[in-house]
Order: sequence, then C-alpha cells, then structure tokens
Amino acid sequence: MIVVGGGIGGLGAAYSLTRQGLGVRLLERAPAFGEVGAGIQLAPNCTRILDDYGLLDEAKSLGVVPDSMVMRDAVDGSELTRLDLRDLEKRYGYPYLVIHRSDLHGLLLRACERAGVELITDAAVTSYENTDGGARVTLASGESHEAGVVIAADGLHSVARKLLVDDQPVSSAYVAYRGTVPAELERVRSVDLGEVVVYVGPSCHFVHYGLRGGELLNQVAVFESPKALAGREDWGTPDELDAAFAKTCGFVRDGLPFMWRDKWWRMFDREPVMNWVHGRIALLGDSAHPPLQYIAQGAIMAVEDGWVLGEHVARHRAEDGKTDWDAALAAYEAVRPEHCRRVVTTSRAWGELWHLDGVAREQRNVLLRARDTYDYSFVDWLYGPTALTPDEEPPMFTPIPLSAADTGDRLTAA
Ligand code: FAD
Repeated sequence: MIVVGGGIGGLGAAYSLTRQGLGVRLLERAPAFGEVGAGIQLAPNCTRILDDYGLLDEAKSLGVVPDSMVMRDAVDGSELTRLDLRDLEKRYGYPYLVIHRSDLHGLLLRACERAGVELITDAAVTSYENTDGGARVTLASGESHEAGVVIAADGLHSVARKLLVDDQPVSSAYVAYRGTVPAELERVRSVDLGEVVVYVGPSCHFVHYGLRGGELLNQVAVFESPKALAGREDWGTPDELDAAFAKTCGFVRDGLPFMWRDKWWRMFDREPVMNWVHGRIALLGDSAHPPLQYIAQGAIMAVEDGWVLGEHVARHRAEDGKTDWDAALAAYEAVRPEHCRRVVTTSRAWGELWHLDGVAREQRNVLLRARDTYDYSFVDWLYGPTALTPDEEPPMFTPIPLSAADTGDRLTAA
C-alpha cells in the first residue's frame, strides 16, 4: 500500500499499517523528512497509542511530562483555572506529554525505518486515480505508483481532498509566532517548567512550556491580524505581533523578543467533511480535518486516524492474509469523520472563548475561576480511549455554546 505525505500523520499511519504485516511505501514531496516549528502537546489519547506502538518510553525521554496546565488572563496575568496533569494521568492511564515536533517526527521516522517502511523523498504526488482493485498516484516527475490502497496524508493543501470535496482552507485571520528560549536565560529561570501555561487575552493568546527535559522554553504567540480582517495579502507581520500584545501583562510582552520573527503561521482550518474515502483512496490527518489548534488535537487526530485504520485492517484480514479493504475503509470512515468534526468545531469555539474582550471576558473569567480543578467533563470525550466504532464514541460535552452551524442533528444525537 501507499501513504502520501511524511508528516506526523503519514508516518504514524505507515507505522501502524506495517505493524499489521502490510508492505508500505511512503511518498514525501520534500527532499528530506522533517518538521518545522517547536513544541507539540500530546494528550493521553495520543500517548495511549504511542504506548501501544512501544514508543512511549522513548517519547517521554525526549519530552517533558508536565505537572499542571494553567490558564491565565493575558491582561492582568492572574490565574483563571488549572488542570492537575498527574491526576489526569491517573484518570486516563497515560501521561500528558510535551515534546519538540522534530523529536516526535524523528521518533516516528525511526520506527518506520525499523519496521521496514519504504521511505521515498522528492516524490510530489500530483494526481490520484482508482484502478481495478486498487489505486494509482502520479508524481510531478511523471512516474507512477500503484497499490491496493492509497492513504493521502498530504496536509492542509491536500491534492487528494479535491477528489471528495471542492472546498478551500478557511482563514481564521489569526496568526501564530513560535520560538524557544534557552534554559540559561533569566526568563526561563523565572518560570515553572513543570507547567504548560496559556495566557488568554482579547484577540490574542500566548502559550509556554518546557521542552527537551527543560533545556528550552517553548513559546507560541497567536493573534488576530487587523490586516487579514482588512483583506490585505501581507498579513501577520511582526509589527502586528507587537501591536496585538501591547496591552498584555509584562511577562507576556517580555516573551515577544524571543519569537522567531522571520516566519509565522497563518491559521486555517476547513469545514468538516464526513466523506473521506473515494474508492481505494482515503484521507488521513490534516488532509481530512485540519483544525485550529486551540485544543491541541490536530496531530493527535492524525495519529489516531492511523491507529484506527491499523486496527480495522486487523479486523478485516482473512486467514490467507488478504485485507478486505472496502470493509476496513468503511469501518474507518464510519467512526473518524464524526469525531474529528466535533474536534474541529470545538476548537473554533474554544478560540472564541479565549479571545473575548470587555464584559464577556470578565464573565468568562468568573466562570473559569469557579471551575473545579478536578472536573474533567469537558475533556473526557477527547482523552479517553480512541473509539473504533461509532458506538464506542463517547458523548461530546462542551461547556460553551457552539455556533448555530455546529449544533446540527449529529451533535444533538450525541
Ligand atoms: P502535515 O504535517 O501538513 O504533513 C503533510 C506532509 O505531506 C508534509 O510532509 C508534506 O511535505 C507532504 N505533502 C504535501 N503534499 C504532498 C504531495 N502532493 N506529495 C507528497 N507529499 C506531500 N496538534 C497537536 O496535536 N498538538 C498541538 O499542540 C498542536 N499545536 C499546534 C500549534 C500550531 C501553531 C499549529 C499551526 C498546529 C498545531 N497542531 C497541534 C496541529 C498539528 O501540527 C497538525 O494537525 C499536524 O501536524 C498535521 O499532520 P499531518 O501529517 O496530517 O499534515
């Protein structure tokens, strides 16, 4: 079989499928495998899968297992609410982990190499087609590759997605800056590296947590770009970064000089789609469900997709080793799109909550301060075991109203 895309989603899927005894060829457009950016947060619904893959100990040795997650008000710096991540680990059985993206990516890449995945770079797929009993991809070079199934993990600007839906990425007008601060600097000494902290403010937020056993402080600064709202092409520039955080507390403002100022990430998602399979071609990861990152589940959903697909391959293999791909893909499509739809819409709603201003901000702060630290009702549906069938999918709970467009039948049914 073929996997297109060597990001976290593609590598995770390739490993999961190889584990089931399948021969996997992975095609990556870039000249070398790699990940850009700094930290990534992995909740128990991901570390549970890493454990199943035998990769959790290595992941823990590369990352940090923090003690708590704290939400603060970005304007006055005060604490709003916190999660006890040690208690959370007891509840879900697996840790909350923060790790450098390139370390997670490298870990999955090495696992794929060990498992015998055929890893090919400089292979940009330009088209997909179904064939008799399989599917074929054609590369920019003109070369083609054929297999029983093609999994398209080709990210936000997926070529494969066009087979299923004629849509475009949706701009949130928000932009993210990232950066790391070395541990020897005073700024790092002044923070508790055992905390994942998010400062929420009017049209902006700021996140920090320790990486690589405390060698680095990871920082992310996110804000709504006035230039994007005005329809300008040149949006998200460093002058906008400084202006967006001008009214935040000293600790947040002092972090801005450490952001990488020559690269920024404009934040897009897409409207959820419920159809991910086209014959023997299936979407996975951001190609299927790119979210806004507010509940830190994008890469996790991609890892879950690969694990679920692997489990359904195991369930739909005959004794002669042949996979009933139509059944396995149907089972995958029966469960993953609805879960990911919920995550994508919830992420949007959390973003709105984080970025409130005026009276609404004050009301939010009152509610968050009153929250019981040990109330997990809003993450149970995310952090529990990944569902393999629609029946196993837990009811969704969100303490905040989703927009009218998100409160359809499916949500009511949940
Ligand atoms: P990608 O990472 O986009 O990988 C796609 C791969 O396919 C790339 O290697 C690309 O080169 C390759 N490719 C593309 N087109 C082709 C082609 N035509 N032919 C061949 N190869 C191709 N998620 C979390 O779980 N936790 C977090 O804490 C978190 N924080 C985030 C913070 C920010 C600021 C942002 C922007 C995102 C965050 N996310 C987080 C989301 C997460 O990064 C993504 O959802 C995840 O990386 C998607 O992985 P993917 O493999 O599906 O796609």
